[in-house]
Amino acid sequence: MSVIKIREIEAKSIISSSNLPGADYVINPYTGCMNSCLYCYARFMKRFTEHTEPWGKFIDAKINGPDLIPGKTSKYQDKKIFMSSVTDPYNPLEVKYKLTRRILEKLIPLQPELEILTKSNLVLRDVELLLQFKSCQVGITITTTDDTLRKEIEPYTSSIQKRIEALVKLKESGIETYVFIGPILPFFTDWKEIVLETKKLTDSYIFENLNIAGAVWGCIRKWLSGKHQDLLQEYERIYFTKSGYWDNVEKDIEKFCRGQKLDFEIYFHHRK
Ligand code: SF4
Repeated sequence: MSVIKIREIEAKSIISSSNLPGADYVINPYTGCMNSCLYCYARFMKRFTEHTEPWGKFIDAKINGPDLIPGKTSKYQDKKIFMSSVTDPYNPLEVKYKLTRRILEKLIPLQPELEILTKSNLVLRDVELLLQFKSCQVGITITTTDDTLRKEIEPYTSSIQKRIEALVKLKESGIETYVFIGPILPFFTDWKEIVLETKKLTDSYIFENLNIAGAVWGCIRKWLSGKHQDLLQEYERIYFTKSGYWDNVEKDIEKFCRGQKLDFEIYFHHRK
């Protein structure tokens, strides 16, 4: 793993109101993320930090995060709390700090509707806590079934095999799951293959396309130029002409998922 600056910080608050669809609140136990995904949409968070390192090269552990969860309140009961919007709550640093675990322990008496999204099988460590929520859903992100590609685009995440094993174990434990297929990377993400490999292991699917807003396009272009030069022009056609590419993908997904009788949602229309 390349050098990543790790800091321990005291956060002022840990539960934030959410403007994400379907979530009332979000909890991010870390600022920054050690997964270092190529396409990370959370890069914009850097401007809210004092870090000079590039996004993906720093992470702040909010070491007082668990203490900021109130002891007694009905404020969050049956409200959706999403973990996490701009980090992975089970990124590799969680092995050491256990912030997500300790936050979950504090949330149990408050009984929010809990939703967790991760690329790590470390979530299995906390199954006995997750089972103590009346409403709990765990999403496992899968962007590719090709582990060589996974190492290129999501270098510090669990292997695809481990994520699939996590789905199996979560299902065996009776925890509701979904597979988050996103971002769909044109010519790389075989979403149909991901569905066919996982459809017996999960309750539902969410599909999201690659959003190149902000600094993401620069990262994608650099990656394509270095390793997949033949596809750079194709990406430029998709994103910078009226190609209609995503409309067609959306129709394909709808048709396929309806045919397979799957429960699914498509998030293709990012706010400008
Ligand atoms: S897991 Fe999410 S927050 Fe972390 S680097 Fe990847 S895309 Fe960004």
